[in-house]
Amino acid sequence: METRTKYTAQARTKTVATVGPASVSQPILERLILAGADVFRINMAHGSRSDHQTAIENIRAASAKTGLPAAILVDLAGPKIRLGQLTQNPLTLENDQEVKFIRGETATRDDELTCIYETLIDEVEQGDEIILADGIARLEVTHKNQDQLFCRVVDGGQIRSRQGVNLPGTKLSVPALGPIDKDNANWAANLGVEYVSLSFVRNAQEVEELKSILRSQGSQALVVAKIEKREALLELDAIVEAAGAVMVARGDLGVEIPIEQTPGEQKRIIGKCLQHRKPVIVATQMLESMHTSKQPTRAEVTDVANAILDGADACMLSGETAIGEYPVESVAMMNRIMKETEKVFETEQSRMTAHSTQCEWPIADAIVFGAAQIANRVSAKMVVIASSGIETGLSKSKQRDFIPTLCVTDVFQTFHQMSLFWGVIPVLSSQKIEQPQLQPFVNAWAKENLDLQVGDRFVVVVDTDLLPGVHDSLHVARVD
Ligand code: PEP
Repeated sequence: METRTKYTAQARTKTVATVGPASVSQPILERLILAGADVFRINMAHGSRSDHQTAIENIRAASAKTGLPAAILVDLAGPKIRLGQLTQNPLTLENDQEVKFIRGETATRDDELTCIYETLIDEVEQGDEIILADGIARLEVTHKNQDQLFCRVVDGGQIRSRQGVNLPGTKLSVPALGPIDKDNANWAANLGVEYVSLSFVRNAQEVEELKSILRSQGSQALVVAKIEKREALLELDAIVEAAGAVMVARGDLGVEIPIEQTPGEQKRIIGKCLQHRKPVIVATQMLESMHTSKQPTRAEVTDVANAILDGADACMLSGETAIGEYPVESVAMMNRIMKETEKVFETEQSRMTAHSTQCEWPIADAIVFGAAQIANRVSAKMVVIASSGIETGLSKSKQRDFIPTLCVTDVFQTFHQMSLFWGVIPVLSSQKIEQPQLQPFVNAWAKENLDLQVGDRFVVVVDTDLLPGVHDSLHVARVD
């Protein structure tokens, strides 16, 4: 299996791997990083606080041991609505059968359903649709009284206790950030994680609320808005603008909207992220069959490739790495598909450019565009950006050119955060990243890790203080 002993073996598109029982041990995490994992997702919907704490400690240890960056993404569960206890597991619902939701958590008859969302009966109305178990069964509400919600089974199937309940047409009162999510956000902030994601986000205020919880704890973690509700699609511009990064959460999205609309919405969300210069992750069922198979299906390989061609910065593995039989093989396969696909749009010259109309960083955007042009003209082997923050690296990433890009930083969080940025190689320096110390550090690193030779040219993007806080200048240097 190809591994990442050299940076040249690594895809530019980033891989987010979900951590679970199949991958939480430090040796497996090290193998995942070497196979190409850049970001690890801790799914707060499963496991205990102590499981999550162990995962974070092991990820940090694996990153330190391999010497490679690995960002941590804590995924807050949000208001995921689930069935309560059923009378049978599985329980088969037949087409046209009458069933009813009752209050409480435990059903006593086969035609009774319960739900952990206490106000379901109050908030759902006649004619509303209720989707169970990610679309396995669909119900229509026929009528209700004080304590019962009567439904007709429109599409039957086998359901199990605790499976998901989606209410696509119902405006729910539950907030995106409940008390458990807030507690988890504080915990994540204090552990210094790089990303925190918000499930079932509906508007930009919810993103701002999570941001302010994190900032109040002194955390600079970026908020990842998971787009998985119809309401979020209607507020997309504002949400993307408020968020630090975005996830196309196709699992729930494909239930909340007609499944055939998800490919079009995926493209639209990715387009908005390019416009607002935000990293975007495409998630769920990317290599689903690799739960139990060493080989993905042709359709899965094509799905990953199309996400990259759409402009995704990262692709995510869920159960494949959390509970699957082949976590390392799944990451390695992802890396192989990514590298091959990147060749397609390299040769097609069909690059996206980050000339966003709403961009707040036009100078840095122009400078990194110029850096890539100059690198091409003088056959430079890489572009080096020295920065304590993430913005200029992000500009360069969204430009989607193929010149290797080193982002050197002396800030631990910036180092790991940039793991999500397409085409960016984050490098941590223990010294200040100003000239003249930068040059010898870069020389040594590039000779060791990118096989650069004495005399090879590279372009350096710097902040000269002429314009405060902006990378405003560039020069050409040589490896010596
Ligand atoms: C999704 O719904 O696609 C998703 C990524 O969220 P989760 O895995 O938490 O359901």
